[in-house]
This record gives sequence, structure tokens and C-alpha cells, in this order.
Amino acid sequence: MARAPHADQEAPALVARRVHIQGIVQGVGFRPFVYRLASAHHLAGWVRNDESGVDIHVEGRPECIESFQAAITAEAPSAAHIARQTSCAAALEGLTGFVIRDSERRERPTTALSPDLPVCAACLNEMQDPAARRFRYPYINCTECGPRYSILTALPYDRPNTTMRGWPMCEYCQAQYEDPNDRRFHAQPIACPHCGPRYSMRSGSAVTWGHDAVSAAALLLRDGAIVAVKSLGGYHLACDGRNAESVQALRERKFRKERPFAIMIPGVAAARELVVLSDEAETLLTSAQRPIVLAPARIALPGVAPDNDELGVMLPYTPLQHLLFAAGAPGTLVMTSANRSSEPIAYADPDASERLAGIADAFLIGERPIARRVDDSVARAGPFGGMILRRARGYAPDVVATLPCKRPVLAVGADLKNAVALVIDGQAFVSQHIGDLEHYQSLEAFRQTIEDLCSMYDVVPVELLVVHDAHPEYQSTAHASALPGEKLAVQHHRAHVASVLAERGALDTDVLGVAFDGTGYGDDGTIWGGEFFTGSVRCGFQRVASLREALLPGGDSAARFPVQAAAGFLDQLNSSVDFTTPPFCFPQRYRKALQLVRKRVRLFPTTSVGRLFDTAAALLGFTRAVTFEGQAAMWLEHLSGGSAQVAAYPFPLRDGRLDFRPLLESMIADRLRGRSEAEIARAFHESIASGISIVAGGFTQVPLVLSGGVFQNALLLELMQAAFGARAWTNEKVPPNDGGICLGQAALAAVAVAP
Ligand SMILES: [Zn+2]
Ligand SMILES: [Zn+2]
Ligand SMILES: [Zn+2]
Repeated sequence: MARAPHADQEAPALVARRVHIQGIVQGVGFRPFVYRLASAHHLAGWVRNDESGVDIHVEGRPECIESFQAAITAEAPSAAHIARQTSCAAALEGLTGFVIRDSERRERPTTALSPDLPVCAACLNEMQDPAARRFRYPYINCTECGPRYSILTALPYDRPNTTMRGWPMCEYCQAQYEDPNDRRFHAQPIACPHCGPRYSMRSGSAVTWGHDAVSAAALLLRDGAIVAVKSLGGYHLACDGRNAESVQALRERKFRKERPFAIMIPGVAAARELVVLSDEAETLLTSAQRPIVLAPARIALPGVAPDNDELGVMLPYTPLQHLLFAAGAPGTLVMTSANRSSEPIAYADPDASERLAGIADAFLIGERPIARRVDDSVARAGPFGGMILRRARGYAPDVVATLPCKRPVLAVGADLKNAVALVIDGQAFVSQHIGDLEHYQSLEAFRQTIEDLCSMYDVVPVELLVVHDAHPEYQSTAHASALPGEKLAVQHHRAHVASVLAERGALDTDVLGVAFDGTGYGDDGTIWGGEFFTGSVRCGFQRVASLREALLPGGDSAARFPVQAAAGFLDQLNSSVDFTTPPFCFPQRYRKALQLVRKRVRLFPTTSVGRLFDTAAALLGFTRAVTFEGQAAMWLEHLSGGSAQVAAYPFPLRDGRLDFRPLLESMIADRLRGRSEAEIARAFHESIASGISIVAGGFTQVPLVLSGGVFQNALLLELMQAAFGARAWTNEKVPPNDGGICLGQAALAAVAVAP
């Protein structure tokens, strides 16, 4: 930088300031924004990325600097998220002009990585313009939009550290990349049809390239074919959602019997035809995260979401998805993760071709590699606002909380719906949804994600505090134990409660925490899942109440067969009913389970509310095996939708235990006298809510924290909102299910090591 010729004679009114911005400010066009802003405010100086954000030096008149600083916050690019702006006086260097400097790298990076972004309006317009160079080009992007986390291989976020490194820019792209006034200035994935990656369609031995590939895929989809489509963070399997035969074929080939499929529609108007879209749901649907939004279905699409009154809808977020619709693909497109059953989504090309060979009729494949698997996120607008049920694309790996901890902490989460958290300089980064670690590929993804995050943030493993679930047989526990560094075990349900408080930064707040889920390892080695705690993250949580204990016959398989779990609960009743006869008609498995209970062999004590939901579902007719976790509870919730509000059954608190016996006995009596299943299901939900109210009645002075997979139940949340209003706190940034466990673990660990 040249000095002004007479720096020592400059007007004394000029001052210099150093401004530092933290948050999501890299890879979102922030430096060119600062460049334009500084020029507009007649300031000299420079801007550069550093490990923790964006570093700015400005020189000029004090009032100009002041308005410049205000404008940074007020006018920041839409994809940016400013967490903090700090500034201090600096020495005047007598600079002229404003420049963008290269990234500075001196120490461990702590900046937030930008999640992937949906294609922006400017790029969409350009893509539809026949005169534009990037007309119909599926890899169009700019600093406001496009891939980020899913193409990143290392920090800092520069092109050589992305999967675009194999495509040198042409002169046209290079010129835009270097022009601070262009919206592609330093857009790392910049590309055009002349220099960038391409798409092809493979069907049998036929290969089509370019836009013909997209048109051919759209045509196949219209004809009822199943097409594997490469997306941002993995492959999708697509088919016409209004073609029942295609949907059925997809289910059979994917070995996915009943779990709902998500639907992609071209726009909000099309979404409104399929679902009832509240304002909050629409905000979620159109947000930059573009999640799958669960909303009440308006029409039934055969086979898409069996036994479910909700439908998951999402808008297109990649240029290719827009091109597919424009080329005539069906406007109600099933877009489901490309995998078999509950394996993780396929994202690497050879792996996808192999694993999807028997499922997809054709492949629409882009050349740009995917650096890591990132699923679609799932969210719902509920009585407490937006709730994330699966946190992945668009959200990960954003910071979700600030914790009082200088030391790096790795929290490895739980084995179901796994996600991991890394805390660097007190910033808690939560990974994308990884999945169930019983699958080999998920376990690999789990290891890879940990390695990935640690290497991106230059974490030296021996410095780490590694936090894991207290379950001695979890895969995640075994992996944590094998890592170097100090270890800390955190009890599952306390982690659920702590996750809500970590999000809110309320680590010192005394609360009554309610953790209801399917299963988690308790202090006494039994299976917990219906727990009440008092205390705070800072001072720890004491268990003050729980569900009455039942004895689960057969261990893990009890979670797959509601009638098997039911045997453990129903045996405690004073009842002579034979549940294998009408109206219950339990299958033989129930009788065998009951024998185990009576002989006291292979029994596992549990306080799981998830299993109580299974028992209730079994009593009302769900007597088959579940094909995915939480299915029986979802079925029960769906069933209760047919009933108006009814009175709760008795669910008394006795010696610190909520006694399920009067509750189940009342349900059975109602069933025998022919009351409608819908009303009984509704009354069961009311009873769970009343049980919480009874316990909460003893702790009226403190907030009520609700977490655990059971609180994904929309009806239960409604009842909680009606009973407690703003006194009830739920998860907002991480899922209430086990996807949020890692954050709770990290918070409890952070206070454990805080000075
Ligand atoms: Zn754009
Ligand atoms: Zn180019
Ligand atoms: Zn849990």
C-alpha cells in the first residue's frame, strides 16, 4: 500500500480504526461488501479474512467511520450473520484507497463456516436468460448463494480448499472473480459452461450431456421412472409423487416400508395445494436453510406418508432442481435421501452408482464432487415456534451456542440420530445429522466428521476434553474412549435438558427439566426415559421424579415391537383381560414376552415414556413391528387427531413416580366399552400432559424445560403450550431428539472445566 505523498501534513481530523467482525462472514460476499461500503463512505484502508472472522482497518473522518460501522450491521449481505462487531482506535497509516487483502492465517481458526446456501434470485434470473453465458448452467452461483460446507475440504474457505480445485477458471470467470464490483468477486465455486463441471444423464448404456441430460431426466420422471439425482450434500431418489405405482416401486426397491417421503414442489403456491401452510411454516419453507417442512396434509398422496396427517415439503434449492422443474419434471416430486432403508445417504459417485444400481432407473450426475454427506434438514412450525427435527443442510455447521470454556471440547453425542459438537474458544459448532451408529456407514461418517472438524479447526487431539454418553455399550462411547485427551461421561437425559439451556445461554438458571424419550442409560444402569430433574447446568441436575418403573422383556427388541414393550407394562395391572383376544388381538409375540416377564428372565427395568407410548399404541391397534424409531408414537398422535379435547385419565404421582397403572387401566376399560380409538388416544396425550403438570405443580417458581424425542409430538407440545405458555422452554436450534444430545454434553462439560 502506497503512502500518501504528504502524510505528515494530513488534516488532523482524520482517524484510524480497526474493526473486527465475527459470525458467518466468510464465503458470503462480506469482503466485497465492506469494500463497497468503505468506498461509499470515503474511507481508505483494507479488509481481510482471518481465522476468527473479518478484519478491517479504516482511515477517514470520524463521522464517516461511525456511519460505516453502523452500515456494516444494517446492510450486511443476506447470507451473512454477524455475531459480534468490535473495534478500537488504530494508528493512522496515511493510506489512500481501499483494498481487499489475502487471508491472514496465524493461529487456530475459529470462524464459523457458512452452511450451504440456496440459489439466489439474481443467479436464477441469469440462468433463465438465453443471452447469458450461464444460461441453464446447473453450477451457477455467486457470493450470495451456492455450495459452501458441502464442498469445503479445509479452512480457510478458498478455491484450492474446495472440491472445485480441479476446474481452473476461464478468463471470463477469472475477471469476475477479481472484480470487487462484481457479485462473483471471490465467489470460490465460480464456474461457467466453458470452464466448470457438467451434468450427465445415464440410463443403461446411454449417456446424455448438458441441458439434454436435464430434459431427459424430466421426461423419465414424467413417465414414472425413479431417477437418482446428485444434489448438494448427497444423492436424492426422485419420482412423481402423484404416481402411486412409482412411489410403491421406490418403497420396495429402497426397502423403506412406511417411513414418509419428502416432496419437492416448485414454489410456495404449489406447497399450499399440498399442505396447510401457516405463516411460520412458510417462513421456514422459504428460509435460507430450505428445510423439509412438516405441515398438515391437505390431500392424500398414496404411499407418500402412510398413517400420517403431515406431509414434508421443501422448495428447490439447487439450480439443477429449478432446471428440472422448468424442463417439465412433475410438480409434486418425491425427493428422498438416496439409500437403502436407514443407511446414510450416498454422496460419492462410485458408491452411489453401486448402491443405487437396483433402485434407480437412471442417474443425473454432476461432476463436482461432494466433500461430505449433508442430508436435507427437517423442521416444523409448532406452538413454540420453529423446531428442528433433523439438523443438517443449511444449518450445519453453524454455531448454536456460546459456552464459558476456552479449552477445546469434543462432544460425541448419542448412538441414535447422532451429531457431534466441537467447542472452540467457547463457540459450539454442531455437525450435520450423521445417523444411527449401528450402521457401518454411519459409524464411518461419524469418525470422518470428527476428524474433519478437528482438522479444520486445527485441534490437537491431546488438548481435547472428550465428552460422551454414560452408556458403556454405545459405539460413540467406545470411539471416545479410544481418542487421546481427557474424558468425561454425561448422563443422557441431563444432556437433553442442558441442550435447551445451552441454546438460551441460561447455564445458571434453576429449572425443572423434563426429559422424555425412548431410551437412555440411567445413573443406576437401568433404561431411563421419563425423567424430571431440578437444578442448573452450572450446579448439576438432581432427579426428582420419573415414570413408574416397568420391566421390559427381551431388551432392545422391545423397542421394535410395541406389544412386547406392552407386556412389561400391562403385567403390572390388576387385570384379567386376555390381550390376544378382541378388541386387542395382540399377536403371539405378546404371550412369549409375558412369559419372560412372569419367569423374570431377560428383563430390563425402564422408566421410558417412549415405551409407554408404544404400549398405548398397542392397546389401540398398533400390534405389528415398527419399521422406524418413533413410528408407534406418531401413529398414536395421528389417531388422536380425529378427536376433540377430552378429559385426561388418572396419572397420579406416588412417591416420586408417575403411576401408569390407573392410566392404562382406564384406557383398557374404555376400549372394552367401545369408546372411539381417537378419543382414547387423545385422552392418553392429555394424561401425559397432566402428569407433567402434576410434577411441575411442586416447582412453580422455575422455568419448565422440555426435551427428548417425545417432545417432537406436536399435540403434546400444544398441550404444554396451553398449560405453561412461556414458562415452558423447548429446543429451537438443535433437535429435541438425540440429535441435540451433543450440545447438552458440551454444555455440561464446559461448566465442569470452567475455572
Ligand atoms: Zn447467486
Ligand atoms: Zn468460466
Ligand atoms: Zn434421548
